[in-house]
Amino acid sequence: MPTYSRFPVTFVRGEGAWLWDRQGKRYLDALSGIAVCNLGHAHPALYEVLCQQAGQLWHTSNLYRIPPQERLAGELCRLSGMDNAFFCNSGAEANEAAIKIARAVGAGRGIADPKIVVMEGSFHGRTLATLSATGNAKVQRGFEPLVGGFLQIPYDDIDALASLSGRSDIVAILVEPIQGEGGVRTPAPGYLSRLRSLCDDNDWLLMLDEVQTGIGRTGRWFAFQHQSITPDVTTLAKALGNGFPIGACLARGKAARALTAGMHGSTFGGNFLGCRVALEVLRIIEEQKLLSRAEWLGRRLLDTFRQRLEPLEQVKAIRGHGLMLGIELQAPCGGLVPKALAQGLLINVTANNVVRLLPPLILDENQADQLAETVVGLISGTTS
Ligand SMILES: *Cc1c(COP(=O)(O)O)cnc(C)c1O
Repeated sequence: MPTYSRFPVTFVRGEGAWLWDRQGKRYLDALSGIAVCNLGHAHPALYEVLCQQAGQLWHTSNLYRIPPQERLAGELCRLSGMDNAFFCNSGAEANEAAIKIARAVGAGRGIADPKIVVMEGSFHGRTLATLSATGNAKVQRGFEPLVGGFLQIPYDDIDALASLSGRSDIVAILVEPIQGEGGVRTPAPGYLSRLRSLCDDNDWLLMLDEVQTGIGRTGRWFAFQHQSITPDVTTLAKALGNGFPIGACLARGKAARALTAGMHGSTFGGNFLGCRVALEVLRIIEEQKLLSRAEWLGRRLLDTFRQRLEPLEQVKAIRGHGLMLGIELQAPCGGLVPKALAQGLLINVTANNVVRLLPPLILDENQADQLAETVVGLISGTTS
């Protein structure tokens, strides 16, 4: 189906942060398959683990115990401070699990029409419930009637949430620590901690969509760890399997007890292949100390961009954390993407006027310099 408008390029091979097309031209990948291939392409250790598991056992279903799934749940809980995990195959499904947890908590309180607070400019997926939770009319248009039960407020606006205090039909808030599709929008410092206290005061679940920010992207395992808070629910997918489809919904406290046997499920979720790959992803990030690397490289890139791009009048803002970077221009700039491609660089433009960079965490310094030079050149060449 013509659900995608694709660029006229076909990649046939990858290695680390490099991709090669059919003609043998080499590209630097500063997008990582949209925050997925955090360890780059064709990582030898991931290849090894995937092939080893493929020769042993792929799938038995969740009717039986799956040891690597149990180990992965343990690792994710250790790294996040959460209590348990439900595994699925995508970010939208991980958010569906979160939404079901909120509804189940509401039902347990006898609330007939429980509400989840969501944010303008958010993105939570393309299933009916997650597109209904998404704060972008373009994602929703044509698919009405939407799933009900979502209350939308402005992002990065504590007062808007505070004004809902005392409403007992609200059970949860669902929010991205940094809005990815919404334009790499970074909220004011302290935003998440203030959301946390409002949720505590009102007995609302704090549900963080870390599908894009999670697994090291911002320089911590989870973006919420920059503010030393713990959510009640957090969702993961994208980078968890480095390209092998796997998602997870992690929960804590009463949220972790909301779904009991028979209330939710997935045929493929948490299978041997996905869980072995994800365990290896976590091991490599830890062993190679890629969190501090992402933080350090990200700061270096941000400094370069601030120095060289901030003075330009066509540049409106430069922001980000770790290797999740956005350069907001005054005017729509989608045309930069094919220009970058022609110069052998993969970037993305989101929210019409934000150049989004999501390079792999294994990017080396020469590659970072090449990325910075090309992006600075491209943006300097635009006019406002
Ligand atoms: C990509 C994304 C999703 C959806 O993930 P899929 O795997 O495409 O379903 C949800 N939330 C956020 C924040 C995302 O970036």
